[in-house]
Amino acid sequence: MPQKSLFENAPPQWEDDDIASRLVATVVFATGVNGGFDYTIPDKLVDAVEVGTRVMVPLGAGNRLVLAYCVELSRGGAVIRKLKPITSVVDPHPLLSPSMLKLAQWIANYYITPLGQVLESVLPAGVRGNAGTRLTTVLFITEPDNNAANNTDTKVTELIESLTDKQRQVLDALRYSSEPLTSVELQKTAHCSSAPIQALLRLGLISRRTIRRRNTDTADQSPPPTLQGHTLNHEQQNALNKIAAAIKSRRHETFLLHGVTGSGKTEVYIRAIDEVVHGGRQAIVLVPEISLTPQTVSRFRDRFGKVAVLHSHLSDAQRHHEWTRIVSGDVNVVVGARSAIFAPVPNLGLIVIDEEHEGSFKQETAPRYHARTVARVRAGDEKVPLILGSATPSLESWYHAKRGKYTLLSMPRRVRNLVLPAVDTIDLRNEIGTKTSSGAIHRKLHEAIKRAIDDGGQVILLLNRRGFNTQIQCQSCGEVVYCPDCNVALTHHREREIAVCHYCDYQIPSPDKCPKCGMPGMRYSGFGTQRLEHEIKLRFPDIPFLRMDTDTMRSPGSHERALTAFREGNVKILLGTQMIAKGLDFPNVTLVGVINADTALHLPDFRASERTFHLITQVAGRTGRGDKGGQVIVQTFQPNNPAIAYAANHDYKGFVNEEVTLRQTLGYPPFSAMFRFVIRGTDEIKTFGFAKQFAVQLRNAMEKNNKISGPAPAPLSKLRTFYRFHIQLQTKQQEQARQQIKKIMSETKPPNEIQWIVDVDPIDML
Ligand code: ADP
Ligand code: ZN
Repeated sequence: MPQKSLFENAPPQWEDDDIASRLVATVVFATGVNGGFDYTIPDKLVDAVEVGTRVMVPLGAGNRLVLAYCVELSRGGAVIRKLKPITSVVDPHPLLSPSMLKLAQWIANYYITPLGQVLESVLPAGVRGNAGTRLTTVLFITEPDNNAANNTDTKVTELIESLTDKQRQVLDALRYSSEPLTSVELQKTAHCSSAPIQALLRLGLISRRTIRRRNTDTADQSPPPTLQGHTLNHEQQNALNKIAAAIKSRRHETFLLHGVTGSGKTEVYIRAIDEVVHGGRQAIVLVPEISLTPQTVSRFRDRFGKVAVLHSHLSDAQRHHEWTRIVSGDVNVVVGARSAIFAPVPNLGLIVIDEEHEGSFKQETAPRYHARTVARVRAGDEKVPLILGSATPSLESWYHAKRGKYTLLSMPRRVRNLVLPAVDTIDLRNEIGTKTSSGAIHRKLHEAIKRAIDDGGQVILLLNRRGFNTQIQCQSCGEVVYCPDCNVALTHHREREIAVCHYCDYQIPSPDKCPKCGMPGMRYSGFGTQRLEHEIKLRFPDIPFLRMDTDTMRSPGSHERALTAFREGNVKILLGTQMIAKGLDFPNVTLVGVINADTALHLPDFRASERTFHLITQVAGRTGRGDKGGQVIVQTFQPNNPAIAYAANHDYKGFVNEEVTLRQTLGYPPFSAMFRFVIRGTDEIKTFGFAKQFAVQLRNAMEKNNKISGPAPAPLSKLRTFYRFHIQLQTKQQEQARQQIKKIMSETKPPNEIQWIVDVDPIDML
């Protein structure tokens, strides 16, 4: 920790021999000032201050009291003369274990983020604020004093003998209660008034204490584990054996479980977790937030009973409660989205990341950590295996597995001899201007939908765009209606007749006249899920369907209600955005249609192709999961694009081999490490000016073999009124580059109205 001094005020005076033995606490602040600061610990707080507790300390010339995390304790040196003392201690117990603090320190360094900010991310707000609990005064049987002489014991016995029946009853009620009771609770339990309690307090037989308790004391409903697993097939067993060996020998190893959709990966996780739980340890399972459905959760709950689920809809009180359960070791498995990687299980035995290729494991606000990267560090430190599972592993993970850094476990076949569905592509280019192409659904897809439903099957249709029309354009002057705050075209939402910005939610009534030239006759074009829904209503008037996108899934529980309706067969066609593409396991789905496979292909992002491949492969995997088999139809303007062609052939290896070569040629990750800087401000010229100056500093500081591009306008060149410029750095010496970047960023201060961020290993390139 760098030592910084804050001694504007006269510090306390120390005797010389006092100094060396004095304890010094290094603290970090959640916001504002960066770096570690040292304080002395007053005698009365010496026992209370521990690494991982929060304390109040005076800061600055005004000695403003500020909350801080104690991150280190050391013996004082000469510097002590100049330090201020800690004012008070906030937490009775450390909120962070030493290993979690170490992990946070690693994140702070790797992602170039102040440690205090990382800690605020590692510790949920509900935990920091003790949400859902309050301080309560409860009654205890007074502990016999160990130091006291025997005659005290005799005294107690005499006292008890002198009690009235009622008083004795009260004492017994408290003695046999499994938890401490408040006075009111004790009165209820012992059927008495407050008088005998007062008497016992006066006699010193019982005493008061203040503790923190939950507001509601609903018992945790953990059903006992019931379900038995399947008999594993040969490939599952082989994968499990390797993982189990690592679990048993308590060593870290990263496994890449590459199993096609429906190959039974979850079953392998569950068996591996079984090993861990039987050994008295806990497992953490990360899944993408949208896969965190009750269906997923119940697979773990049915098997392990005590499961904590951490998702973004938990209230602060619920989150705090789950946290407390996890810390106490009362939970076997933690299932959660990205931040569950910080779950404070006392005895970690395994980490699983399902759908490891998903971009949502990266946090897009500071600290911009990737849960997979953090998981590797945590698993390494705690000497436990890490399983990365996917039907379409990220190129980075695949590359590491190929190079032997990860252990590759392959499950190339579906369970129960089910086959992967046949995939047909429809070349939309041939259809332009012909009558058959009116609407979003091609004639061949229409017929396939009809056939599937006639045969008693169900259909999933993917269109990865919300809204009705994706573009509103003036036919006279060509003006496209844009968001005034973002450089993004507005989407027409027909239900409410509004044009909406999908980035900032700016809304206007959908215009019938051009906002620029005033001429009537706006052309509404482009397809979103609302328009697809409209078309389905017209084409299949009698067939029940359901649309799933963020517009229809706003209310709590709507997601699950929709999936239940589909599972029960009340809904025949499920259409929606990527929300429906992943993880669903419905055996009766016999057809999957992709309305437009190209939507994401041309984004200015080096992972655009990879993402398209993933999406098509994942959605194709939703069919053929039952005895009726399945079929996939992909509509595209680019049937020969590798991302689409390889996905249509279920050829993951073909795709990655080609894509790896491309990345190597261009020096993209995993062949380099990337840092992305985004500089934003409301004044376009000034912001660009600062970005240029920063790029010069970077170029001067970096070795020549680093590749620096920009500044250039970011693909989203304006967002929420801010102009955005980005600079990209690709390097083969990541650690060296990081240290240089830290140095420059700590020495440079952007002008007040300009903000900058650095994104290490960026996923979002827009
Ligand atoms: P994945 O996660 O690879 O998509 P799942 O683990 O969800 O696959 O398995 C798909 C389906 O097959 C599930 O319904 C699961 O219960 C079932 N299953 C898994 N393993 C077996 C097995 N060995 N034998 C029969 N069915 C299995
Ligand atoms: Zn906007």
